[in-house]
Amino acid sequence: MPSAPILAIFAAAVLQAAPIPVLIISGQNNHDWRTTTPHLRHLLANTGKFDVRVTEEPGSLTPNALAKYQALILDYNGPRWGPTTERAVAGFVESGKGLVVVHGASYAFGDMEILADKHVRTGVHQPIWPQYRQMTGAWWSDQDPKSGHAPRHIYQVRLTNREHPITAGLGPSFQVTDELYHNLRTNPNIQVLATAHDDPSIGGTGHDEPLIWTVAYGKGRVFHTALGHDVAAMMEPGFIATFLRGTEWAASASVTIQAKLEPESPKGAPRVLVVTGGHDHETTFYSMFERFAADMRVNVNPHPIPYNRDLRKDYDVLVLYDTIQNLTDQQRANLRNFIETPGKGLVALHHSIADFVDWPWWYEEVIGGRYLLKPDGGQPASTYKHDEELRVLPVSKHPILKGVPPMHLWDETYKSMWISPKVEVLLRTDNPTSDGPVAWVSPYDKARVVFIQLGHDHTAHQYPPYQQLVRNAILWAAGTK
Ligand SMILES: [Zn+2]
Ligand SMILES: [Zn+2]
Repeated sequence: MPSAPILAIFAAAVLQAAPIPVLIISGQNNHDWRTTTPHLRHLLANTGKFDVRVTEEPGSLTPNALAKYQALILDYNGPRWGPTTERAVAGFVESGKGLVVVHGASYAFGDMEILADKHVRTGVHQPIWPQYRQMTGAWWSDQDPKSGHAPRHIYQVRLTNREHPITAGLGPSFQVTDELYHNLRTNPNIQVLATAHDDPSIGGTGHDEPLIWTVAYGKGRVFHTALGHDVAAMMEPGFIATFLRGTEWAASASVTIQAKLEPESPKGAPRVLVVTGGHDHETTFYSMFERFAADMRVNVNPHPIPYNRDLRKDYDVLVLYDTIQNLTDQQRANLRNFIETPGKGLVALHHSIADFVDWPWWYEEVIGGRYLLKPDGGQPASTYKHDEELRVLPVSKHPILKGVPPMHLWDETYKSMWISPKVEVLLRTDNPTSDGPVAWVSPYDKARVVFIQLGHDHTAHQYPPYQQLVRNAILWAAGTK
């Protein structure tokens, strides 16, 4: 039988491998659940620690349907769910699982009028769900002193209990722009983790109001945050840290998510510089990079400015989407120093094949291809044609093609380019207005170099297989694939 430490390591490995299944309950709220629920889902999924599902029809939940989850996250404020679901949810928590209550959900099922989207009064009252008050530890009241909040403002949230696993390591306070709920009725058994001073000069109570707390309900754990009025409030680093750590604690009774109060940035991710200029293009080109935000840090700088300095310490990959012929000797040396540094990468896209057509080192050795702006050495000038229907097939097993299916798209074609016989062709088309190879890896032996001919406008930029191809190419060029 393995010793205890080995079992612990094994258990840790299993926990690492299996994301925690959690369910967000949404679909009705006087807050903008259509934007907040996807945002919460993204925050959770981004940690890699949760398998996140969402229901917008909670009224159909049964004990069986809930059994596979470790925690429920309520981004809900609306009509009662009916006895089956309500019993299922209360039983779920009681049995030892987790419940997370976010902002608007703190006054669901109370003695408040049900409000429609955007706080529109409906005149509809519903019977109180008493167990919900027990689970969530607090409720809103229309009686004096009325529960409510001063206008949304910027304030400091103080972590009043820093011993709890959720708040340990987060520091004494953080700042938010959010609503600050006040005069909530709370149960004596809640464990308050954070409060904020409610400024009387703008309609606050003058008291320190509880904003984050936990509740023990049966064998279960409840994490309640009154923060998170909208996506902006949910982007606050303090909201994110407490929400993610609170959810992990509710779901698993322990917290492994990093205690940090900084905006998200993919640390250690490849640093990418996109070089534009000399050729117009649609802004959809940039939207494509926004989708890569989790995998890389991307800057843009038009040529020739990037080449005025040594790029090696700031960037791992250059992505060229420009057209340029001339650089000064110093600019040329800076570009060349980057390309000649082992470990660096270059991804040349589309019209950048017409860069430096008079610099043989560039097109022969680095890119492995050249767009002929005019006839040269017995070869005719290259040609282009817009809006061509293309079938593009992978013709290699290269990692850049991972997850890239046969593509069917409309794009600009180039024909009669000079293509080095030494390139490894990745993609080919049979469109007669195009050369056969439309993506290749250069044989250049210092930096990793890829050329992708496709990508003239939004029809390519917005096409998921093209995005996958460009993403893969950058990550491969950075040496991470
Ligand atoms: Zn609100
Ligand atoms: Zn083009």
